[in-house]
Amino acid sequence: ERCVVAVDGPSGSGKSTVSRRLATAIDGIYLDTGAMYRAITWAVLQSGADLSDVDTVVKIAMETDLSIGTDPQAPHFEANGVDVDAAIRGPEVTGAVSAVAAIPQVRAMLVQFQQDIISGAPRIVVEGRDIASVVAPNADLKVYLTASAAARAQRRSAEDATDVVATEADLARRDQLDSSRAADPLRQASDATTLDTTGMGIDEVVTQLLSMLNS
Ligand code: C5P
Repeated sequence: ERCVVAVDGPSGSGKSTVSRRLATAIDGIYLDTGAMYRAITWAVLQSGADLSDVDTVVKIAMETDLSIGTDPQAPHFEANGVDVDAAIRGPEVTGAVSAVAAIPQVRAMLVQFQQDIISGAPRIVVEGRDIASVVAPNADLKVYLTASAAARAQRRSAEDATDVVATEADLARRDQLDSSRAADPLRQASDATTLDTTGMGIDEVVTQLLSMLNS
């Protein structure tokens, strides 16, 4: 039986860890759409293009050969044949990704790519910002994960060993950028179930999602 789960939410909400665990639990694959925007951004930065030159950024995005790993235990990404797993989590990419993701042609290209991957997969957990609303509006389960700003910053800085105060400021900056564009991908799909994970452990969240899926 086909099963598509859409997990949306801001950075640090626990999306990635939860989505990977859930994908493993349903014996499905895992698609990290944020990593796709990040890998395109890496290629744009690599090219030396000016981020404000939209035509050039779109051209580079279109020409980038993306290899998308969907193994929930080890999702490995390559861009133009280069392993970008570490680089796409670095400060340069994190600082530029919201600008690249705001370009409609870039979104259209990646959404198409994402929908192709979803239609070829019997069971999949897809995480991002616009999954329930745009990428997979027919998903079997739509969840919107949130957590307090402090909890999100704490999780992120534990992941990448950066300063928690700087991380909270960066998350606020990205939330602002991500939600100030015309089609706000942070806006919650009206039919998604919100789960505030502040103070919840991973197991607890995954168990709740599994019971939602089975009900
Ligand atoms: O989730 P993650 O922090 O990796 O996402 C990085 C950025 O990619 C977000 O800040 C957002 O600008 C963009 N993004 C998006 N749509 C998605 C996933 C990510 O615009 N579906």
